[in-house]
Amino acid sequence: MTDPAETLADCLRGLSETLRHHRDLGFREVTLSREPFPDVVDTLKAYERALAGCQLCRLCHSRSTIVYGVGNPRAKLMVIGEGPGEEEDKQGIPFVGRAGQLLTKMLAARGVGFDRDRDCYIANVVKCRPERNRNPEPDEVAACNPFLMAQIDAIQPAVILALGNFAAQTLLGMKEGITKLRGKPYPYRTGVLVPTFHPAFLLRNPGESYKRMAWDDLKLARREHDRLVGGG
Ligand code: URA
Repeated sequence: MTDPAETLADCLRGLSETLRHHRDLGFREVTLSREPFPDVVDTLKAYERALAGCQLCRLCHSRSTIVYGVGNPRAKLMVIGEGPGEEEDKQGIPFVGRAGQLLTKMLAARGVGFDRDRDCYIANVVKCRPERNRNPEPDEVAACNPFLMAQIDAIQPAVILALGNFAAQTLLGMKEGITKLRGKPYPYRTGVLVPTFHPAFLLRNPGESYKRMAWDDLKLARREHDRLVGGG
């Protein structure tokens, strides 16, 4: 692994060479055209503004609102679902319908203990509601993907909780179903991804065994969070 002190020293050497070069060219001031370390809240606001009126795919015809994301942008847990449903489309907020209420309870369960507003940032793979809640098509996912990736890279979550087949398969680029994928963490960008059942699936399949597996996954997400972030 690279020594962080060496990496920093390399960056500083590069910066001082660039500054010397500019001084030799006669420059006396260097103007920054962008914020060097943009604030995550401002970054997400700018990304959300950039999405306004988006017509990159046909979901723009079925939506009433673009449902960008909600929660604490500085949270280290990011929860990602499939796409907005009817209630989310009305309110412009992800996971506010029945599945959302169950999600809030799952996050707060014993041994998990995440507060939805304080500890999580919640978003979806696609930001617009597909008509009659059908699955999003591959070209719709592809159109929305840069917005989701930019959102993930701004937040830099330690743990992504991927809800259901669709989010887990899309993010991991794997074809296996959620029953196969769940139960373990996968290295993902700045942290790990923990797949679990979608709360809407749990509402349709109220058996204890699925609930127990989902609870195990959420406890795993908590452990990974505490391992990577510290605390608990
Ligand atoms: N289901 C999802 O996948 N996302 C929502 O926001 C609501 C329901």
